[in-house]
Amino acid sequence: MADGKFRFPAVELGPEATELRREVRAFLAEELRTGGFKPIADSWTAGMSPEFSRKLGARGWLGMMWPKKYGGHERTALDRYVVTEELLTAGAPVAMHWIADRQSGPLLLRFGTEKQREEILPRIARGECYFAIGMSEPDSGSDLASLRTAAKKVDGGWVVNGRKIWSSGAHLCHYMITLVRTAPKEDGGRHDGLSQFLIDLKSPGVSIRPIKNIAGDSHFNETVFDEVSVPDEMVVGKIGDGWRQVVSELAYERSGPERFLSTFVVMREGLREIGADADARSDEAFGRLAARLKTLRRMSLGVGSLLQQGQSPVTEAALVKDIGTRYEREVLEEMRRLLPARPLGQSPDPYGSVLRDGILYVPSATIRGGTNEVLKGIVARELGLR
Ligand SMILES: Cc1cc2nc3c(=O)[nH]c(=O)nc-3n(C[C@H](O)[C@H](O)[C@H](O)COP(=O)(O)OP(=O)(O)OC[C@H]3O[C@@H](n4cnc5c(N)ncnc54)[C@H](O)[C@@H]3O)c2cc1C
Repeated sequence: MADGKFRFPAVELGPEATELRREVRAFLAEELRTGGFKPIADSWTAGMSPEFSRKLGARGWLGMMWPKKYGGHERTALDRYVVTEELLTAGAPVAMHWIADRQSGPLLLRFGTEKQREEILPRIARGECYFAIGMSEPDSGSDLASLRTAAKKVDGGWVVNGRKIWSSGAHLCHYMITLVRTAPKEDGGRHDGLSQFLIDLKSPGVSIRPIKNIAGDSHFNETVFDEVSVPDEMVVGKIGDGWRQVVSELAYERSGPERFLSTFVVMREGLREIGADADARSDEAFGRLAARLKTLRRMSLGVGSLLQQGQSPVTEAALVKDIGTRYEREVLEEMRRLLPARPLGQSPDPYGSVLRDGILYVPSATIRGGTNEVLKGIVARELGLR
């Protein structure tokens, strides 16, 4: 790594964080005891439970860093990190509110109007309002700026036509932050002329069609916009500034502990399963996985602290996601090597069940939110290699 190119400041978690962690653990233990949830791998994309999200909202664990006047709790990024870490390592069903709490809320806080903030942020913080990401299109994924969904200016607003694809959870969400072209490419560079709209998914002309994933779940969708009216007050930030805003959103999207903890429950249940049969080989494997986990956590915490300072560490976040998602897949491979005889079907035992989830859901981790090849390209550019 080039000297000084990447910043991962060391972060100390103090006694308040320890106390908060204790509270979250006690809550999760009680939820598990009373059947409030069943741990799953990749719970931040696969575990959709509005009821559980509302419980977290009631405890003040959503919108944690936002100002109180918008329903937030004015806590630190590290407090939020601790809560997130505990929820993920427990395999708790946090997918419903995940995008709204992680990136759409912070985006509105930064670029939204006062009205958008006042109306929407308190609902997100209560765990009652959910968001989908409207970036990818059938012919625009990695090359996002080539997108074709377009908006035409009319009196008092815009009319949107186009198609978004792979919109996670859109069938259950209230809004989609949608990246659209508001000026033709020839008017500027390819990143100019893009804007972000806050689209109410109940608007006339919006249709959402589920796409089944390999697990047979309807996790993501195709979302079609047919002459959808979007009032001016639903523009997010400035018209034409969409690219800059999306890039700042990606640092939130790529750096969190969900980029390396999606398979933690598989490792934990595997460790339980091995129990007294542990030997030198399993000790070595778990030791190696734990050491890498520690490094990733250190990097991710560092990015979190830069975000807290208002910086936009896009390259560092890309590194965390690239290394973290490859690690998640290695956890699965390692567990299958250590405990090779597990069936893949729905299994009544906790290990078999989380292993199945992991095998079916986690391969997409190196694609969603930007493919690993594209992330490596971002890092290479920063190093001056491209
Ligand atoms: C589970 C899941 C959930 C998702 N949820 C959402 C969502 O909620 N909202 C949303 O907008 N999108 C979502 N996506 C879409 C995701 O962001 C895209 O799939 C991703 O950005 C890749 O785009 P693509 O599928 O069009 O592949 P392509 O961009 O066509 O890429 C195909 C292959 O070419 C490689 N490639 C492309 N460009 C380059 C390059 N410049 N250098 C090197 N290699 C390159 C890629 O790495 C990949 O291997 C989701 C995807 C998945 C799998």
